[in-house]
Amino acid sequence: MKLPQWVRRSAFQSRPSVLQRSHLFYKFGLKVAVFPAIALSQTMGMATPPGIAQLETSALESPVLESPVIESPALESPVIESPALESPVIESPAAASPAPASPAPESSALESPVPESPPTSEVCSPDTQFATAQVTQVRSSDSPVLMARTSKMGDLLNDLSPVLAAHFAAPFPQISGAARRARVPVIMYHDILPEKEVFFDVTPQEFTAALNLIRENGLTPISLDQLTEHLATGVPLPEKPILLTFDDGYKGHYEHVYPLLKQYGYPAVFAIYPDKVGTNIGRSSMSWEQLQEMAADPLVTIASHSFTHPEDLTVLPDDRLRYEIVESKRVLESRLGITLKYFVYPIGKNDERVQRWVQMTGYKAALTMDDTVNKFAGESESLLSIDRIGQSNLAEVIPAAYGGAPLPPFGSQFNFNSPVQLSRLTVNEVPLIMASGGRPITIHAKTRYQVEEIIAGTPAVAAVDGGFFSLEYLDSNVMVGPVMSQNTQAFMPSNPKEVRLLTGRPLVLLSPDKVMFVPFDPEKHNTLAGIQAELPDATDAFVGAAWLVKDGQPQPAEAFGRLFDFDAARDRAYWGIDYAGQPVVGVSGDYVDSVSLGKALSKAGLRDVVMLDSGASASLVYEGKSMMSYEPRPVPHVVALLPPQPTLANCSIVSKKQAEN
Ligand SMILES: [Zn+2]
Repeated sequence: MKLPQWVRRSAFQSRPSVLQRSHLFYKFGLKVAVFPAIALSQTMGMATPPGIAQLETSALESPVLESPVIESPALESPVIESPALESPVIESPAAASPAPASPAPESSALESPVPESPPTSEVCSPDTQFATAQVTQVRSSDSPVLMARTSKMGDLLNDLSPVLAAHFAAPFPQISGAARRARVPVIMYHDILPEKEVFFDVTPQEFTAALNLIRENGLTPISLDQLTEHLATGVPLPEKPILLTFDDGYKGHYEHVYPLLKQYGYPAVFAIYPDKVGTNIGRSSMSWEQLQEMAADPLVTIASHSFTHPEDLTVLPDDRLRYEIVESKRVLESRLGITLKYFVYPIGKNDERVQRWVQMTGYKAALTMDDTVNKFAGESESLLSIDRIGQSNLAEVIPAAYGGAPLPPFGSQFNFNSPVQLSRLTVNEVPLIMASGGRPITIHAKTRYQVEEIIAGTPAVAAVDGGFFSLEYLDSNVMVGPVMSQNTQAFMPSNPKEVRLLTGRPLVLLSPDKVMFVPFDPEKHNTLAGIQAELPDATDAFVGAAWLVKDGQPQPAEAFGRLFDFDAARDRAYWGIDYAGQPVVGVSGDYVDSVSLGKALSKAGLRDVVMLDSGASASLVYEGKSMMSYEPRPVPHVVALLPPQPTLANCSIVSKKQAEN
């Protein structure tokens, strides 16, 4: 299927009209409503009964021990009598066999989080077929190298991927938030020659070994077109991508590298400066004829590496800069008969003015280099300064390569079938630690524990501390607002005295294939029937503190209303859904205010995020380990990520194993 020009173009340059149009196709299923200013605040709390004032502090700040606990209405609240609290532990394999390492209380703290979901052994139900259809083909208008993960619905979805790409696209030259958490190493080589002359020279034998390493580790070398489209739109790459680049146009690139690339079928970038071609300045050079042959090969991308390879483009006057950036493109295009789309800064030297020239000249992206730090492409500042990693670090970075989350299954805004991944990244100078993927659930423990204690003995890969809890007793699991969890399988209404204070806060609803964030309405949402009216197959519900990102928009200060300390720098915990439809749980890696955190999370590719907590109980656990630099205060409730449902591929592995047994 050929796609209209506007779709194609929008992958690189999003225009409002295009974005709006694609929104029509992919309007989120989340209930959108005018967000009423949140009325809860310290100030307001003082005008309310003492028990209520105390609830607010408990929810959003954390002076747990210091806060005066006065006779609170919650003490007499019907919540306490809720049958759910006494409900017997559900029999399930997970509950019956707590992890050996976990201390005694946990096993009693919670039941198996997902009683109805059996462990990996069986279940290859028909709907898992659908779940495995994850589109990942990237269409690049010029690149012949297409990629696709195995998918039954591949063709249909591949045709749609540019439409999705248009939806995700960031305005040029920004990197799409959806690409921020992928890890694509862009490897930089210089000369390849039989006898090393300097440390960064590589022999053909060493280069062959590197290609074998890439192949044995299951990496897929991609083209620069593919990387650029991925960075601009977030459309995923092959599972473990890598990009190979070769600077300066040495003869060895033609004699040794090019034949090996053809043999392995690997694409690569060659950065050429016209002054060197066909001469023997310094070292050997390729001839124009050799370059023409390579340029005609779809595996090869030629990039301009300036005209004369000056040591520092940033100190050149405009007329020299024009020569290096504009003339080099013109000459390479006319000599090689191709369109040049990419620039590679000599020695990585660039600044805003140099980038502006590169952009004005019509380059679609530019590569830089930084010897001091290994950064994956998604961590780059923009498409005009994509970071590269020196070839000597190849073995070190190979295990980390990751092409990004697959697109949601066709027709769904959610994908609960990708593996759980941990990411640490810094966006707008805000450090973020988050886990994404898997299936979201909540766990309501019997009293307060460390998050890692709550998920011990469950299949959860990651978890963050969840909804508000009442601080009346240190030893209780009473929550503020209604709560329903898969592990308790009971709906517990809010204390009626508190329920109004939650008006407008995000009510979080989970079902097996969907998540909703709805402004809480005390008239509607404090009964099981009210919850089911919003989401009939809801399995989990609780009320969060505030939206940080709503329908793709980071929330401004006004949206937080009088939420206590929202503008203070604090540790903060959050959870939400990213543009790939994956659930995400995370914390700020440092003190941050709510508005800045929302902006950073939006830029990191999250489309809806709810703040869960801030202060000393903010806690993220991944693979059983706390990600915090401090010991958080214990909590009774978490949002956790379970591994994805077994896919058909997993099923075949299981049955093979069973056959062996
Ligand atoms: Zn160079």
